[in-house]
Amino acid sequence: MTPSVQPPEETFCMDCGPDAALERHGSAMLRCPRGGAGQRIPALPLFVVTGARGVGKTTVTASLRSRLPDCDVFEIDATLQVAALGWEVWRNTWLRLVHEVALNGRVSVLCGSLQPDQLEHLPARTLIGPVHCCVLDCPDAVLASRLRARPSWRGTSTETAIAQHQRYAAWLRATIDPCFDTSLLTPEQTADQIATWIRQQMKASPVSR
Ligand SMILES: [Zn+2]
Repeated sequence: MTPSVQPPEETFCMDCGPDAALERHGSAMLRCPRGGAGQRIPALPLFVVTGARGVGKTTVTASLRSRLPDCDVFEIDATLQVAALGWEVWRNTWLRLVHEVALNGRVSVLCGSLQPDQLEHLPARTLIGPVHCCVLDCPDAVLASRLRARPSWRGTSTETAIAQHQRYAAWLRATIDPCFDTSLLTPEQTADQIATWIRQQMKASPVSR
């Protein structure tokens, strides 16, 4: 059997080796802590559209794709099997992909249950520019009826699961701004508002490409 080799997780200095993790200097430079050559990174912004299960993320994501031709929109659950290696590995892998997309000069929008604080300490966070997060939300009763209507194999329709998702929705609502209420807006209107917010943020902090 081939022994499994753990690839180095950090972005490290190619001259000094894996124990010299590159450090961020300013908005778009990575530097070797031992004084070696620096490396420019695109540092484009990353947008996150988060929310509890049942708030309508998947429906809105589909509508969002066509509204943001300058961005690459991802449904993060598309790679959920990677989470078998650990949630941090999964999230870090997304940040690495976001960086790869940025090298192509494009901005990523990640849609799924993610919190900004879950990204801050990941190794690949140094590769990414500012992270902007918005949350999709709906009143508790609407969330409960949407989750009850889901097939039982998804494991979200029990009363215990519903209460847990309601608590998570309340936490996100209190923590993240802006918040878009999917019970008041159609998926198209929600996608319009998110796209407008993203374009405003990109205009407010333009990054040289
Ligand atoms: Zn070095």
